[in-house]
Amino acid sequence: MKYKLLLLVLLVAISTQLFSWGALGHEVITRLAIEGLPDEMSFIKENCEYLCDHSTDADKRKSEDPTEKNKHYLDIDYYKEFNVGDMITDKTELIEIYGENIVDKMGILPWNTIEVLNNLTVAMKENNKIDILFFAADLAHYVGDAHQPQHLILNYDGARTGQRGIHGRYEINIINANIEELQENISPIEITYVKEPLQFMFDYCAQSNSFAGLIELADLHSLKYSDNEYNEKYFKIFWFRTKYMTFHQFSNAAEDLASMYYTAWINAGKPEIK
Ligand SMILES: [Zn+2]
Repeated sequence: MKYKLLLLVLLVAISTQLFSWGALGHEVITRLAIEGLPDEMSFIKENCEYLCDHSTDADKRKSEDPTEKNKHYLDIDYYKEFNVGDMITDKTELIEIYGENIVDKMGILPWNTIEVLNNLTVAMKENNKIDILFFAADLAHYVGDAHQPQHLILNYDGARTGQRGIHGRYEINIINANIEELQENISPIEITYVKEPLQFMFDYCAQSNSFAGLIELADLHSLKYSDNEYNEKYFKIFWFRTKYMTFHQFSNAAEDLASMYYTAWINAGKPEIK
């Protein structure tokens, strides 16, 4: 029995390492974003299945590429400027204050997302289908990660608050178990052209961070009402306390991703990719 439990814990730990929202979560966000795109962006729409399947490739690269890991998070609340509502979004400026090591260590999610968005724009301009698919799948991943509140906090996996495992309990256990309810409650998306992509990304990062405390409180609340055990009752209450925020985050993730696909396509001159 003990071994079975250990195996389960290990599996959750491994899958958490591999897939940020869980493969299913990333797929839902990617599909919804692509379905909302205008018909003229037919190349992306026709490759919806491929992009959904590859929306977790970036996570899989972590094991072989040491530069990959910090592209998936930003411990934004490490920075005192963020905590008083004046986050510095310019990476060079932040490095001048904190040094490169710290900025690297705290994660580079939004700056990496900008790079992927720019690469996608170039690929669209050049009509390079292989690159379009590669960068579009990666963009789906990083935008999805940035809407997972736990990717935007210093208290990674509850290490600082004694809530180890909260990351997997939220994004794997309850998301996978309630995926149908989640899909039924995602709002229709509205696509906009993003004038200032970096600020846009920092805005959704800040929003995600503001929900992280809700997940931590929900975890404590659920434990309190389930005999202090991660049992069926715990997961039922945990979902009940986090689902409304999760519906919101999934809807926003899809909308923001679609808006960025659209922005790349507009900036590339609305190419007809055949
Ligand atoms: Zn990730």
